[in-house]
Amino acid sequence: MPLVVQKYGGSSLADADSIKRVARRIVDTRKAGNRVCVVVSAMGDTTDELLDLADAVSPDPPERELDMLLTAGERMSMALVSMAIANLGDSARSFTGSQAGVITDDVHGRARIIDVTPGRITEALDAGHIVIVAGFQGVSQNTKEITTLGRGGSDTTAVALAAALKADVCEIYTDVDGIFTADPRIVPTARKIDRITNEEMQEMAASGAKVLMLRCVEYARRFGMPIHVRSSFSHREGTWVYETQGEDDVEAPIIAGVAHDRSEAKITVVGVSDSPGQAASIFKAIAEQQINIDMIVQNVSAIATGRTDVSFTLPKTDGQRAVRVLQSVKAELGFEQLQYDDQIGKLSLVGSGMRSHPGVSATLFQALADSGINIEMISTSEIRVSVVTRDDQLDNAVRAVHTAFGLDAADGEAVVYGGSGR
Ligand code: ADP
Ligand code: ASP
Ligand code: MG
Repeated sequence: MPLVVQKYGGSSLADADSIKRVARRIVDTRKAGNRVCVVVSAMGDTTDELLDLADAVSPDPPERELDMLLTAGERMSMALVSMAIANLGDSARSFTGSQAGVITDDVHGRARIIDVTPGRITEALDAGHIVIVAGFQGVSQNTKEITTLGRGGSDTTAVALAAALKADVCEIYTDVDGIFTADPRIVPTARKIDRITNEEMQEMAASGAKVLMLRCVEYARRFGMPIHVRSSFSHREGTWVYETQGEDDVEAPIIAGVAHDRSEAKITVVGVSDSPGQAASIFKAIAEQQINIDMIVQNVSAIATGRTDVSFTLPKTDGQRAVRVLQSVKAELGFEQLQYDDQIGKLSLVGSGMRSHPGVSATLFQALADSGINIEMISTSEIRVSVVTRDDQLDNAVRAVHTAFGLDAADGEAVVYGGSGR
């Protein structure tokens, strides 16, 4: 009997009625002759609400306790979905991440899955039950503590379980009809993509397209697991994320899509002495705090002063910590001043056709210029060009670039079925 792994996101489980609707869908999949293992996220914006609650009792909660709190969201969903399935006359068993055998490293808040030992899941499936697993969580191999996988982590749980169970398909159900050429909440004329390469989706996810978590795409690539992203609110065929067999897909368009990201801030270290070792010292101090940086720009030094400015972007959530550590080494490094700016946005254009088509950057920059949007930073990879703009210009920038590359759909608006976009 085929084995299907399905994942339902928070927007698909927002309230009791949604849970009943999802339960019906799961039971139908089972009745169609499949074994079904389901991964669930926390209901609606529960995770954000739990984070707000933690923040209200402590500005800097212990990581262990924060993970204990956050995993409760997914546990509520798993039990409620199981109950709703029982109410439809079918039998379901829910399991926490730990019970499901999701083994992680010991980094709270962004743990990595290092192994999946799904013995209990297989047993329950063999006994004829539908299995419901709480996403986004696991248990540390070393510390035996409960961990969470980072925001959007249920996507990764689903792919990891699908790979471990050798499932026939991994379906990710969300509040839009699949992966689009841009976020449909910002670009209503975005076009649904039927098939996207894993490599391109990886760049899209890394650039802020949160429809799939980056780690989930990486995991799928490593295990050769195809993903079908689709809506839980419709029965339309969604988007397949697939692995090319080495050679490029000749029919693939030059540009896959435009992603945007508002989660980063920019730090400028002003008046850095233009001499060997300065950049090394700055980024060593940041790295020692386990902070990941994204883009880096260093200006040409002013001849008169022999000093330069270094700007870099990093997650907003790490911004204050980075400023504190740089302030603490200011005397040692001898720079003049620090500027912190969290009003930035990043736009990324992604497409594997960029490798063989020159002029992509020129078209991108022209589209922004024609819309009066200033570019503050630029970075590129083989199949991506990213620019930093003002936060309040980002939506316009995304729409302008989307149009300039001919990505707008001729027919109708992309449907956003639910979710708050939070
Ligand atoms: P879920 O709760 O199902 O995990 P998410 O909110 O994490 O859903 O992801 C779905 C959302 O991702 C969509 O509602 C959409 O706003 C956003 N999104 C961003 N970029 C894209 C894209 N290129 N295609 C589709 N959705 C996108
Ligand atoms: N509930 C978690 C989050 O909101 C995990 C997930 O939804 O995938 O990030
Ligand atoms: Mg998600």
